[in-house]
Formats: sequence, C-alpha cells, structure tokens
Amino acid sequence: GRCVVAVDGPSGSGKSTVSRRLAVGIGARYLDTGAMYRAITWAVLRSGVDRADAGSVAKVADEVDLRIGTDPQGYGVTVDGVGVDADIRGPEVTGAVSAVAAVPAVRKLLVARQREMIVNAGRIVVEGRDIGSVVAPDADLKVYLTASAAARAARRSAEDASDVTATAADLARRDRLDSTRKIDPLAQAADAVVLDTTELGIDEVVARLRDLLTE
Ligand code: C5P
Repeated sequence: GRCVVAVDGPSGSGKSTVSRRLAVGIGARYLDTGAMYRAITWAVLRSGVDRADAGSVAKVADEVDLRIGTDPQGYGVTVDGVGVDADIRGPEVTGAVSAVAAVPAVRKLLVARQREMIVNAGRIVVEGRDIGSVVAPDADLKVYLTASAAARAARRSAEDASDVTATAADLARRDRLDSTRKIDPLAQAADAVVLDTTELGIDEVVARLRDLLTE
C-alpha cells in the first residue's frame, strides 16, 4: 500500500545509504532530492550564467530537462539527456549547490516536481533536507538523522576518497550556508523521529526505521 517515508538530515548523517536500503527492504521507490539540486547546479555551471544572479539561475532551472529515476538500486540523473551521476558529486557542484538551492524559485520548482513524483510512486522513501517539513508534511514516517561532525566527515571522505580535514571544512561550510538562508531546509519537522547515528551501524538504523514503520 501507499507509504511515504521522509528522511532528512545533514550530509554524512548516513541518510543516503539508509534510505536506499530501507526502500529496497520495504519494496518502495527512492527519491534523492539532493541529486536534483545538484543536477540543477550542474546545469547552472554549464550554462555560464552568473550563479550569484538568482533570476538567471531560476531561468536555467526552469528551462532544463531534468530527469531522475526512483529505483533504489540504481537511479540515474540526466540533464538535457546528458548523464550527470558522476559530475554532480564532484567538487565544483558540491561547492556551488548550497547557493543554487537557496534560490526560492529553484526550490519552488523542485518541490513541485518532488510532490508529483511522490504521488505517482505511492510507496517511496524520500531523502533530503526539507522533506518532512515542506515536501511531504503528511509522510507516514518522518526521520531526522544526525551524527557528530567528526563521524559525518569520516563517512563522507570514506565514500568519495577525499581528505577528511578538507571534507570536515566543506561540511561545516555547507551546514552554515544551508542553515543561515531564509528558507531553512535543515529545520526539523516538529514530529520527526530524531536518530543520532554516530554510534549506530547502517543495519541498526535501517532496523530501527522498519520497527517504527510497523509500530
Ligand atoms: O544531500 P546532498 O548533500 O546531496 O544535498 C546537496 C545540497 O542540496 C545540500 O547541501 C543542500 O544545499 C541542498 N538540498 C536542499 N534541499 C533538499 C536536498 C538538498 O536544499 N531537499
């Protein structure tokens, strides 16, 4: 049956791995909303428009053909037919995504797309920053994953083989940017279950979420 699970939290909190595994386990689709903001950012960088100009950024977002799959075992992201899965994880996109995601018109556009995809999927795990609070406030389960800054940096650098000190600095910078903008996507939904994953393994977190779903 229909089931929407919202998984929010900062990067490195384990939300991607946990969300994908949970989706596979409960036979649901999976939507990575961060990948959508990253894909728009990729398009903005490619277009050469001034990325500090919100109007130009919004125009690019509006004009590109962004597609994203919802298979938890391998979704693809394309922009105007170009596969961008690898590029959107690179340092250029990562360095610019917070600013692009802060543009209200970009958020409005992507939130509408996300809501549409959620309705179409019916049974889906959605991962992001504002899913429980903005995108799917009626989700059946809302989770907010946290972890210590050190654990988050260690996980991120293990994932992408980057230097842990540089990663820690980048995460701190993005947290700051993400939480000081007007629309705060790091704001937790009041009714979200907060799980600190610093000392928990992936399997433990997934098991905890499955328990919460059957309660
Ligand atoms: O989750 P991920 O690190 O891929 O997200 C990249 C960036 O996209 C975040 O730092 C944040 O600025 C933005 N984002 C957002 N709202 C979401 C998902 C991601 O603003 N729902």
